[in-house]
Amino acid sequence: DSIGGHTATGGRRRRVLFFPLPYQGHINPMFQLAGLLHARGFAVTVFHTHFNAPDKSRHPAYDFVPVPVSDCLPEGSSDVFQVTVEHILAVNRACEALFRERLAALLSEDQAARDDVACLVADAHLLTLLDVARGLGVPTLVLRTGSSACLRMFAAFPMLCDKGYQPAQESQLEAPVRELPPYRIRDFPSTTSAYHGVISEVISHIVTAVTTSSGLILNTMDALESGELASLRRDLGVPVFDIGPLHKLSPAASSSLLLQDRGYLEWLDAQAPASVLYVSFGSLASMSAAELVETAWGIANSGHPFLWVLRPGLVRGTSPSEAEAPPLPDGFDDATRWRGVVVSWAPQEEVLAHPAVGMFWTHCGWNSTLESVCAGVPIMARPCFGDQMGNARYVEHVWRTGLTLDGELVRGKVEVAVAALMGPGEPGAGLRRRAQELRSSVAECMAKDGSSCTNVDKLVDHLLTL
Ligand code: UDP
Repeated sequence: DSIGGHTATGGRRRRVLFFPLPYQGHINPMFQLAGLLHARGFAVTVFHTHFNAPDKSRHPAYDFVPVPVSDCLPEGSSDVFQVTVEHILAVNRACEALFRERLAALLSEDQAARDDVACLVADAHLLTLLDVARGLGVPTLVLRTGSSACLRMFAAFPMLCDKGYQPAQESQLEAPVRELPPYRIRDFPSTTSAYHGVISEVISHIVTAVTTSSGLILNTMDALESGELASLRRDLGVPVFDIGPLHKLSPAASSSLLLQDRGYLEWLDAQAPASVLYVSFGSLASMSAAELVETAWGIANSGHPFLWVLRPGLVRGTSPSEAEAPPLPDGFDDATRWRGVVVSWAPQEEVLAHPAVGMFWTHCGWNSTLESVCAGVPIMARPCFGDQMGNARYVEHVWRTGLTLDGELVRGKVEVAVAALMGPGEPGAGLRRRAQELRSSVAECMAKDGSSCTNVDKLVDHLLTL
């Protein structure tokens, strides 16, 4: 037993089982949650697939149970959203039987092992595995790694389809969704009919995973989404624990799948406060080769020092396993030699928290959005797919800490937007002020009596009743 550990009968620790969806943006918050509960005295077991497997050596105190499923990426489409949703359904199918086997084996080690297990916390995308656990008598909680607003929209999806918002026609995209302000139709994950079937299926799985669980854990907080959280509490019928921002509240070690290049942190130290443009589009978003060229020249022509994460596989049609980063346009290196750094993967939380960083050009994945909010860094949003459009909408219209860069990237467009954000006048000054205010409100949620800290206590109590 650890000091302060939560004990079951016989003085043994309670154990929480975790199963993250094997994507970077889902693995990080799950490991942060595991770190938080481990620090509160729970033993941790992580189930994981073979592909995108965690590095066990970084988490010596945890037990790991591999579910030996190799990658099952669907073939034949270059659309990252379609590939991702089909992959999620394939992961569920591929893991089902092996997970049942592994979990049953763990539970039958002896009766005391079963008594020790408080619950399984799985990603909301893993409905099949949550069902397996419940079938074996293990209570389940769901970690939803996106925003409350996004989950609320998912819960309303059948109504939105009935009302004709989905699938959307090209001509309707700018129309507001009156039932769910500030969303427009174009902020939904699927705007056209091509993938309506598969997306509806994934959304309905997520909502069912939540409503059939013993509790929902959200990586968000009152300061960002009080109205949305109140509506989820009212409508979902399960206890809701908003305990974000997890990357700040958890002592977890890094769960980065890619090696984070730390070689330029000294370079960052040498830059003036709030002068650096940080550019990263997360682990899955992609762009065309032509957009890469415009991104490069936009960064170069902004005139600001920059740190750009150019992930292998960022350009559509290139492989993420390629050792080489996507090629930069001729002349880019000469134009920016003294002003910028291009890396393939960065320690992003640290970078955003660095005083030299003045702006974040991001795809608006939920983790990146939260990390930026916590650091008080204004956002230039260029969402790509899934929940990113909705997150960008909140950044621009609710928190008003950033601007969206829409439409085709034509020469000149990026540097105009960067100048608006980083320049001394408006709108940049207002965005910076509100970003600092939001950062302070979020810090209050994390304080001892703040909403997130109080909810962590409630979550711990809840787990002990299961
Ligand atoms: N990240 C990182 N290094 C990078 C870029 C991103 O460690 O160079 C991390 C980032 O801190 C975040 C996660 O990868 O926690 C990306 O999650 P997000 O939800 O923003 O986007 P996704 O990759 O799921 O689209």
